[in-house]
Amino acid sequence: MKDVLVMNETRQSGQFVVPGQKLGIIEEFIPNSGTFVENGVIRSKNVGYMLMDFANKKVSVYPAARNLNVPRVGSIIVGNTTGVQSSLAIIRIKKVGSKIISGYFTGVIHISDVSFRYTDSMFESFKLGDLVRAKVISDKNHTYHLSTKGEKLGVVLAYCSQCGNVLSLKGRGLRCEACGNVERRKIASDYGEGTL
Ligand SMILES: [Zn+2]
Repeated sequence: MKDVLVMNETRQSGQFVVPGQKLGIIEEFIPNSGTFVENGVIRSKNVGYMLMDFANKKVSVYPAARNLNVPRVGSIIVGNTTGVQSSLAIIRIKKVGSKIISGYFTGVIHISDVSFRYTDSMFESFKLGDLVRAKVISDKNHTYHLSTKGEKLGVVLAYCSQCGNVLSLKGRGLRCEACGNVERRKIASDYGEGTL
């Protein structure tokens, strides 16, 4: 009971919430519109504002205005690579279009969504810290699924994994002018032009 009281103090109606954000637990609230339950935890389904009805013990989320700058299916986003695994890359989304977003959003690129061509290595497509332009293709299971299929999509700025210098375009690959290291990425056609 003490835990519930402590939690109530830190939450209030009207609080801005993002998809997947924890709103409460099923022992204290009945999940209402704009929410979903996962392992007993009530989470927001939408970007919006939390409404807590203490009298009826209900929690719901009012969707925010449509013009709010958050990723949606079809959005072109720019973000940094924060993780690379054998079959996927994790991107911290920073911009939707040219606008910086508020809130914390991450997306994943599956190896099958890297390129129209066959991708044999995720580690040669993205590296930590790369700036990547991608398209949101799905928000299934409350996860932003991203694609870099297409000429204009992919890495727009990358750093040398040996020395940290910005890599320059060299043929179809990338070269470090400082140390001579040559690397590969799934590069966007306007790599290095600064048009993010
Ligand atoms: Zn280097």
